[in-house]
Amino acid sequence: MNMKSDSLKVVMLCSLCLLYLFKTPAFALTDSIPRKAAGEKVVYLKLKLSSMAAVTVSKAPLKYNKHLALSFTLDDGYRSAFLTAYPLLHGGRISPPFPDEWKNDEGGDGSYSAGLFFSDGCAHAIPFRLGIAINAAGIGELPVNRGHLSWPEVHTLYQSGWDILNHGYHHATKHGTDYENEVLQNVSLVKNKLGFTMTQFIVPGGEGDKDYQKAYEQAALKNGSFSVASVNGAEPLIPVKDTVNLTSLIYKRDFMSSGNIPLATAKQRLSLLDSLMRLTEPAWLHEFTHGVGNSNLWSLSVVFPEFKYYMTTIAGKYGQKGTDKLWMAPWQEVYEYIWLRDRVKIETTQKGQELIIKMILPEIPDTFRHTAISLNIQTTSSFDLISQSSNLSVSYHGKGDKKLININL
Ligand SMILES: [Zn+2]
Repeated sequence: MNMKSDSLKVVMLCSLCLLYLFKTPAFALTDSIPRKAAGEKVVYLKLKLSSMAAVTVSKAPLKYNKHLALSFTLDDGYRSAFLTAYPLLHGGRISPPFPDEWKNDEGGDGSYSAGLFFSDGCAHAIPFRLGIAINAAGIGELPVNRGHLSWPEVHTLYQSGWDILNHGYHHATKHGTDYENEVLQNVSLVKNKLGFTMTQFIVPGGEGDKDYQKAYEQAALKNGSFSVASVNGAEPLIPVKDTVNLTSLIYKRDFMSSGNIPLATAKQRLSLLDSLMRLTEPAWLHEFTHGVGNSNLWSLSVVFPEFKYYMTTIAGKYGQKGTDKLWMAPWQEVYEYIWLRDRVKIETTQKGQELIIKMILPEIPDTFRHTAISLNIQTTSSFDLISQSSNLSVSYHGKGDKKLININL
């Protein structure tokens, strides 16, 4: 069920006359203007219940009330992200072998993929999505057998829900690197080319001054990044049941790379995911590699057969065709969900068979991309959504033992 609100339409009849048409369902806010602090915003949902039974509304620890969020990032903007990972996850023809300008095979097996999905808990399928960490200086159209992504490819990934993370303009690390300039120049060119602001930084690896990573961390946090992946900081597995301190977060990721024994890395990672799924508390894990083509690019990559095995096994076990307990989403999306989750205030008022849910939203940074909250609804009643504030996109599941409302703000 989907209720995309478009309650307010402005129709211009002539130069002197404006007519405002209110289309149902619209929520009457006039009788209860709530108190709110500067920058806060209030939105409402109204539910119709099937009985007078009590209702408990709580914020889902993870979007769609999943048990584990898995963020997977491909560093350095290699072309295999588009040639193999994108069609495997979203559905389509995977590239056949593709020798790049460095004589590495960035292609895959040429097969057709139906896509890999989890559900939103409300009967909609959502494709697995990854993040890419890019160096804008390396993005371009040439040569024909280029090893890096092009701007249209990065744009397509972004439009398909992938997050684009800042990995420094040149991937520079050596002595003399201007860290702030690396951060800012990358933001600036991506903004100029694609129209959005990157807000999550991944420190590039390489030779550099002792502790150069710390200088990068501070340069990124000082210049608009909300968190930084580095060799320092929080562990790759983040518990999310309680409030997560995301402010200026510096954290580590788990590196994944194919070894000599085929599929051994994937099998080891899969057993880790199995153990995380058995934990009683929800959690968030961040993994990364570089290429996902047939060659093990720079010996820092997951080869395509192993990547395909890993992702399809995850989808079969924990995606829509399995337990459906996984939220496969890029780092920025999960970061922004938890940031908002920890700041939204929920109040409910029940009158007989009607329930009003009031959500007081914090001031959200302009550079945020994803603004969503999922609510768990616990009650023996079934329910329907009968009205909502304008500009919300809402899906819900009002029956059974997993009642849920997903709200995009
Ligand atoms: Zn890198």
